[in-house]
Amino acid sequence: MSADSDPESGTTRGRITRHATVSVAELRRRLGERMAVVVDMTLPPLTVVASHSIETEPITGSVVIESIERGVTVYGSVRFQWAGECRRCLDEVTGTVTSEIDEIFQVGAPPDSDLVELTEDKVDLLPLVRDAVLAGLPLAPLCRNDCEGPDPERYPTLVADDDEQDEGESTELPIDPRWAGLDVWRSEDS
Ligand SMILES: [Zn+2]
Repeated sequence: MSADSDPESGTTRGRITRHATVSVAELRRRLGERMAVVVDMTLPPLTVVASHSIETEPITGSVVIESIERGVTVYGSVRFQWAGECRRCLDEVTGTVTSEIDEIFQVGAPPDSDLVELTEDKVDLLPLVRDAVLAGLPLAPLCRNDCEGPDPERYPTLVADDDEQDEGESTELPIDPRWAGLDVWRSEDS
């Protein structure tokens, strides 16, 4: 018995590194049949506003491909490293993030649906991994939660994080100074 297959559960293991197309013809002979695929690949860096994935660091994880009516479902997660710029002090900041994959491939998928058309019983995992990386990249990274920016004396951080607010603190918006007088007038009136 190969260490890569488990006849008991019908699970076959595969590994994608660069060629990410997986044949699901065998899998689709029985509903509910599942296949685990290990993801271990590198990709050219993907970028969002203030962060990007790192080309030299592997994207790792695993997905399960499961046979369903008229197709397969693919679910799992990938983990990757990113680098970017702190949104306050602009220093370099790096991190590791895990991002979910959840996709359905179906024969005759309606064009206006979220389903992916399944053709020739082949599933290309590459766009799924790319989408998961793009979705997981932070849009506004911080080097640390209490980063005060480059010169806190002169430019104090005005934006308070939601999670830094005390419990029970009023969520009312601060009064616009232009309307402050109006507020006094209103309270005198009553
Ligand atoms: Zn910072």
